[in-house]
Amino acid sequence: AAAVTTNGSHGYVLSPENCDIDVLDNGRTINDFIDIKIKETALGENEEPFLVANLDSMFKRHLRWLNNLPRVKPFYAVKCNNTPAVMQMLRALGTGFDCASKGEIQLALSLGVAPDKIIYAHTTKPRSHIKYACSRGVNMMTFDSEDELLKISQGHPKAKLILRIAVDDSKALLRLSLKFGAQLETVDKLLECAGELGLEVIGVSFHVGSGCTECGAFKQAIADARQVFDINLMGFQMRLLDIGGGFSGREDFQFSEVINSALEKYFPADFGVQVIAEPGRYYVESAFTLAANVMARRVITGENSPDKVMMYYLNDGVYGSLSYGLVADGRITCVFLKQAVDNSEKRYPSVVWGPTCDCLDKVTDSYWFPELRVGDWLLVDHMGAYSVSIATDFNGFERANIYSVISSEILQALNLSNTYDIIHEESRTLSKLHKYTQHITEGDVAVSLG
Ligand code: PLP
Repeated sequence: AAAVTTNGSHGYVLSPENCDIDVLDNGRTINDFIDIKIKETALGENEEPFLVANLDSMFKRHLRWLNNLPRVKPFYAVKCNNTPAVMQMLRALGTGFDCASKGEIQLALSLGVAPDKIIYAHTTKPRSHIKYACSRGVNMMTFDSEDELLKISQGHPKAKLILRIAVDDSKALLRLSLKFGAQLETVDKLLECAGELGLEVIGVSFHVGSGCTECGAFKQAIADARQVFDINLMGFQMRLLDIGGGFSGREDFQFSEVINSALEKYFPADFGVQVIAEPGRYYVESAFTLAANVMARRVITGENSPDKVMMYYLNDGVYGSLSYGLVADGRITCVFLKQAVDNSEKRYPSVVWGPTCDCLDKVTDSYWFPELRVGDWLLVDHMGAYSVSIATDFNGFERANIYSVISSEILQALNLSNTYDIIHEESRTLSKLHKYTQHITEGDVAVSLG
């Protein structure tokens, strides 16, 4: 159990007392933890699926962010995974939060996040949510239309507004600019409207699309954002650039060079603009591993087919934790067996189904597994993005439990002080943190098909 407390000089730290974070000490690994949970589950005669959140992985990715994008302050996109332990970890790391609704703002505030560390980054907001943000002192919010400006002028006249522009997201998995963002040609009218309503516009935002695969998208979007600063006919004191999300949750920073040089070109340090981002996947995707149980199976033997096809039914599926990763990304990687398997063991084409009565609830049909038995466990990694936050209990199957773990080394490093400040203010301590993290490998679950 861990809770967030303050440590005076640097803000917030995690301490293992009040909330659900297990500390891995005495050399215990995530693998050991999963083993224990599986045994406990079996003892309780209960085979519910569960997720393990590896907070060490988030810590390491945060360090990587600070090293690769030193000018860009992350505001974590809560929609991606709203697990309280995840939020608390990020709070302890010193990030801000991107909230999309009253509910997400409430969650962040209830965990002690300060209102000025929240950006209400949704351009189409219900009136009541705008008023709620106003009542709680959450001032930064985005817009992309005149109607939204009118609503904001009525519900939160002192808001600090960020104009979201549409950008080229044709190479992204999820093209968010199809739905949001003002066209560059309409920017002057929008700024004029904001001025007439007596509102304050402080900056520009964009999103290159979730699962962006093309670094040129960032370069062009940053150039477009600069155009808005130049158009600023109303003379607003624009001082914020928000480069959105779209950073990979798996690969390393393939975009940082392009982003840094575009920032240097269009927003050099002496331009006086603070740069923030709204990463979601980046922080959580590879931090979560799902453990799901084979609760039933059928063997299909076709007349013309020499080989049998195995049908496995898991206790988690498309309507549960495996929802978004499948539907939106079109990819599910790394389903692997909990137990080690001999390479020589025969494998069969295997269809893996979720537990509900719906035939759309298919997890994968592209794997060749050795023969599994009812009661075997499968692990799926990279399960942290857009999984738990949109899981349902369709057919009455409960959502997977979430267990969050942190190693004692990382906990200790975190408690030294806030890493964001460390990197910017105390480079000596930074090398100390690297020492702590060197021997902890991300996704520390080393079980495979052998
Ligand atoms: N910001 C906004 C406004 C979004 O809509 C999203 C995702 O939908 C994000 C940030 C997070 O994007 P990602 O998870 O790709 O980093």
